[in-house]
Amino acid sequence: MHKKLFIPGPVEIAPEILQAMSTPMIGHRMKEYAVLHKGVKEKLKRLLETEDRVFLATSSAFGVMEGAVRNLVGKRCVNFCNGAFSDKWHDVTLRCGKAADAVKVEWGRPITPELVEAALATGKYDAMTLIHNETSTGVMSPLPEIAAVLKRYPEVISIIDTVSSMSAMRIPVDELAIDCCIFGVQKAFALPPGLAVFTASNKALARCQTIEGRGYYFDFMEFAAADEKDNTPSTPCISQIYALDRQLDRIFAEGLEPRWQRHRALAQLVRDWVQSHGYGFFTDEPYRSLTLTCATNLINTDLAALKKGVAERGYAFDDGYGKIKGKTFRIAHMGDLQLADLREFLAVMDDVLAKL
Ligand SMILES: *Cc1c(COP(=O)(O)O)cnc(C)c1O
Repeated sequence: MHKKLFIPGPVEIAPEILQAMSTPMIGHRMKEYAVLHKGVKEKLKRLLETEDRVFLATSSAFGVMEGAVRNLVGKRCVNFCNGAFSDKWHDVTLRCGKAADAVKVEWGRPITPELVEAALATGKYDAMTLIHNETSTGVMSPLPEIAAVLKRYPEVISIIDTVSSMSAMRIPVDELAIDCCIFGVQKAFALPPGLAVFTASNKALARCQTIEGRGYYFDFMEFAAADEKDNTPSTPCISQIYALDRQLDRIFAEGLEPRWQRHRALAQLVRDWVQSHGYGFFTDEPYRSLTLTCATNLINTDLAALKKGVAERGYAFDDGYGKIKGKTFRIAHMGDLQLADLREFLAVMDDVLAKL
């Protein structure tokens, strides 16, 4: 039995998207591919509000997260860490042989502009990594305020992960001074996993020209060269790019403002449910994620039993990530979900809870 996914990625995929993925195959060096690629790129630029280059990589998000570090860190990198994915990114930066420091805050807390300012003011860094929406903890850091700081440090390349937020809210890449914006498509974009999108500003492209040891698969210069021909360095996941193309059309058909509004309504519904049932929130406002809610298990519900009961009814949620497993649980509200889907899921949660 398929379990309807309310976990923070992968998420439910619309039948129309699965259908787009079964489009007959084309060769990636054929004209048809260049047309598809160019169209997708233009739609992404419109969505991301950027004039920067937009590239498609066949990998999960971490492939490009590693690639960005290899391409863009020269002198030293600061990794802002406030959860499992950002902690990992620091580890990945070190594993790539880069000089890097972690600025860590307690899980559940945001990365603030003050923290960014304090780190960049040391003058030690020429690159920084930040996760906009820490999916492990349900914390969203304030990008516009952080961007105001970034604009004062033009020598620092900003590498920002928007895996679980891009398209759920307005993230204007250029206005936010993001040099390299990265997202996988299996979360907020509601596509099957295996494709990542990233941008590179002129500043980022100039930087990577000066960097040794970029490797091949994620070499930004290779992407930039292939991009001139609306192509990718190696064979891309063409079926997924068809799906991305279709999803972008669906996003624009819904309308950006209505899409953002829908996400706000979804978040509100889950937050109200969490509160009315006596659970707490792992983070305070205004930092609660718009795309998933990380609740604290204040009333000691047997989360394993709840998860099992809900699974038997055909639904899946997450009972906490890493070191906060069991103490927290996460309900995702991103992608193509509608209020009715969430209401259906929450009713099942209520049913199972009543019988525990
Ligand atoms: C899921 C996630 C990742 C990791 O993505 P993969 O596609 O599994 O590599 C990175 N960052 C954030 C914020 C995520 O939610």
